[in-house]
Amino acid sequence: MDYDGMFDKAIDALREERRYRVFTELRRHAGEFPKATRFLEDGSEQDVTIWCSNDYLGMGQHPKVLDAIKQATDTYGAGAGGTRNISGNTHMICELERELADLHRKEAALVFTSGFVSNDATLSTLGKLLPGCVILSDELNHASMIDGVRHSGCEKIIFRHNDVRDLEEKLKKIAPSRPKVIAFESVYSMDGDIAPIRDFCDLARAYNAMTYLDEVHAVGLYGPRGGGVAEREGLMDRIDIIEGTLGKAFGVVGGFISAKRNIVDAIRSYAKGFIFTTTLSPVMSAGALASVRHLKSSRIERAIHQERAATLKQLLSDAGLPILPSVTHIVPLMVYDAELCKQASDMLLDEYGIYIQPINYPTVPRGLERLRITPSPFHDDTMMAELVSALTDIWGRLGLRQAA
Ligand code: PLP
Repeated sequence: MDYDGMFDKAIDALREERRYRVFTELRRHAGEFPKATRFLEDGSEQDVTIWCSNDYLGMGQHPKVLDAIKQATDTYGAGAGGTRNISGNTHMICELERELADLHRKEAALVFTSGFVSNDATLSTLGKLLPGCVILSDELNHASMIDGVRHSGCEKIIFRHNDVRDLEEKLKKIAPSRPKVIAFESVYSMDGDIAPIRDFCDLARAYNAMTYLDEVHAVGLYGPRGGGVAEREGLMDRIDIIEGTLGKAFGVVGGFISAKRNIVDAIRSYAKGFIFTTTLSPVMSAGALASVRHLKSSRIERAIHQERAATLKQLLSDAGLPILPSVTHIVPLMVYDAELCKQASDMLLDEYGIYIQPINYPTVPRGLERLRITPSPFHDDTMMAELVSALTDIWGRLGLRQAA
């Protein structure tokens, strides 16, 4: 049996399709984010500026978060000691869950080891707990939601992205007696658009469906306390299950859901992705707790973040660079070609010390390859001017498409 050949063939297929992924080795500098050091294969080092991090607010280096992590390490030690079934709840994770439930004004919350796991574990379990359930899923939902729906084993209906009419057409055809879950995201992280949450909630009410909202790219960033877009729009009470991550705007790691107590209790009791894995460590729980608490009361990070994103969009658009009309902090700069996207990304990094990972299929459809730029409160005017100048140069040299 040629096992090596099989693995090589799988990798070659990716190379042929020009979507073999190469990850840059970086050392971030706490206190100097978005500055970092890149390690090259020849052993040399290069100073770079990161422009594609999902640590959207730089909370991964916030002094309160770092202090909480240091203190928790000294107080509790490193790990959680196993699954909750084996080792019980750490005090830190209970504090964190109370804080997250309060963030979303829900009765309870449940922390998982990542946002991916929380989606997969919760959706797959929901489908199993609701006999005859149909899950209606937005066509652009994240891979973790797609996996969760698939693992639920129940019927799945895909509706067109953010399309209220299409969702209603699909709901109409389902027998009223069947349980239904509408699963969608608030901020779609590749295009930077936002779901019509209110309209979806109205449909859920009319057709007696539950709502499941992924706020991974919105928690910490939107709403007066960083609850997400549903908080900003006054709709949190109309969402049955809100899911989020502790790894992006909150800057640490982990995922969670918040919901009514009986829903959380059922997921806690049945979800394999919760039961059979070691709990998030008390150290990371303490860091996440400090971050959530801080962003609940401090609005300055959100305000600067929005201002920085708006400024960068304006600068790129003034330079004739083809950005999508994102209504959020995400700035998608379109390349429309996998090879050229990789080339543009390599040139930015090698020649300008600007790190923006290329986004290719399957993260986005073929032909819609892009550079996904995520300005943070720490990207100043000088960095922005350098970025726009580098992009303008590269766009000219590679003959890339300009804005229409
Ligand atoms: N949901 C969405 C929409 C995402 O984009 C991601 C990750 O990028 C996740 C869930 C998974 O979150 P995490 O990175 O915490 O696993």
